[in-house]
Amino acid sequence: MQLKHTPRKRFGQNFLHDQNVIASIIRLIAPVADDQFIEIGPGQGALTLPLLEHVNRLDVVEIDRDLVAWWKTKAIANLYLHESDALKTDFCNLRADQQKPARLVGNLPYNISTPLLFHLLEFRDCITDMHFMLQKEVVDRITALPGNKTYGRLSVMMQYYCQAEKLLTVRPGSFNPPPKVDSAIVRLVPCQHTQFDVNEKTLALVVSQAFSQRRKTLRNALKSLLDSEQIAQLEIDPGCRAETLPLEAFVKLANQVDSQAAEQGSLRN
Ligand code: SAM
Repeated sequence: MQLKHTPRKRFGQNFLHDQNVIASIIRLIAPVADDQFIEIGPGQGALTLPLLEHVNRLDVVEIDRDLVAWWKTKAIANLYLHESDALKTDFCNLRADQQKPARLVGNLPYNISTPLLFHLLEFRDCITDMHFMLQKEVVDRITALPGNKTYGRLSVMMQYYCQAEKLLTVRPGSFNPPPKVDSAIVRLVPCQHTQFDVNEKTLALVVSQAFSQRRKTLRNALKSLLDSEQIAQLEIDPGCRAETLPLEAFVKLANQVDSQAAEQGSLRN
């Protein structure tokens, strides 16, 4: 069946058509036949069809019911369709082989990319790697180092959970319709054993509060959690801004918040 489909803005539909870019992405992903791939948003198959040439089985998660209906008419034997919202999908459960980690790929809908990345981190223990097309600005934020103007909450949290590498920049003309921004491919490899000993909820709280107002000093941004003296004890300048701090400093701050809370708890008892 021929597909007559008008791209839907609400689903972030910018379909990739540039065959050189597609070939480069497949080379970077380097699929092996028995890898357990899950693609988010197969759309009209720009990555799906070339991936299917390499793998024994491909699971895809697509929210657009018209596209799912179209894929069904194609009845591709080793393609498994899941009509669902990736933001609500349990990617560990979705694996056909529960003993084997998944490899995730996708040209992601840019309108939900940050919440989707945080959602995917919940399943990091069942994931070997992820190759995603994202807005270039988002990839720059994920891979930014301290001191860079794009360094922020997304950089610290993604780098805590994953090794992140920007692989390729893609121009708007490679898509139909062309997005208004440049895009880039990122490789995310979840760290199996984090080198840090920290309560991850406290880390997330400290990072989000530290970056809540970028121009604020740490002393001001973290005042509900730590005072200047407690920050200085860690050999961190309370007058500096969050954007200058490496991940290790956020870990130290989070541990300090927890030890303060434990101390206060023991004083109360
Ligand atoms: N992979 C195709 C390509 O490269 O041309 C399509 C990419 S398009 C940028 C994003 C795809 O994700 C679309 O197929 C869209 O319908 C799908 N999508 C959007 N939101 C989704 C969601 N919440 N869950 C699953 N798929 C979604």
